[in-house]
Amino acid sequence: MAMKRLTKQRKAVLDVIQNARNHPDAAWVYQEVRKVVPSISLGTVYRTLDALVEEGRIIQLARAGEATRYDANPTPHHHLICDRCGEIVDVEIEFPDMLAKASEAYPELRFHGVSIEFHGLCAKCRDALSS
Ligand SMILES: [Zn+2]
Ligand SMILES: [Zn+2]
Repeated sequence: MAMKRLTKQRKAVLDVIQNARNHPDAAWVYQEVRKVVPSISLGTVYRTLDALVEEGRIIQLARAGEATRYDANPTPHHHLICDRCGEIVDVEIEFPDMLAKASEAYPELRFHGVSIEFHGLCAKCRDALSS
């Protein structure tokens, strides 16, 4: 019985993130999940998010000075951070040589992946500024 409820909560959290605007934080996820599972606690939401990250279903985006955001797209990709509204937009282009070049330049380090943070404007802010 407890297992079943956990599964339902986990599914609700995952659904919310997958249907969310890009990259919500835990507080937003909590607010949305409560519409589906009113009894869920913030602690459970945090624990569920941690578990989903550990399982590789979602990615955690930790940024200095800001609430951790969650990303429903678990495949490696980059992000554009909007300077105006803070929106995080996926940028899915490849930089094929980057890992090899980094390993060459810093042989004493070990590289597992590349995550680039672009800065600029999201489509909405770009439109707002140019109209
Ligand atoms: Zn924006
Ligand atoms: Zn993303």
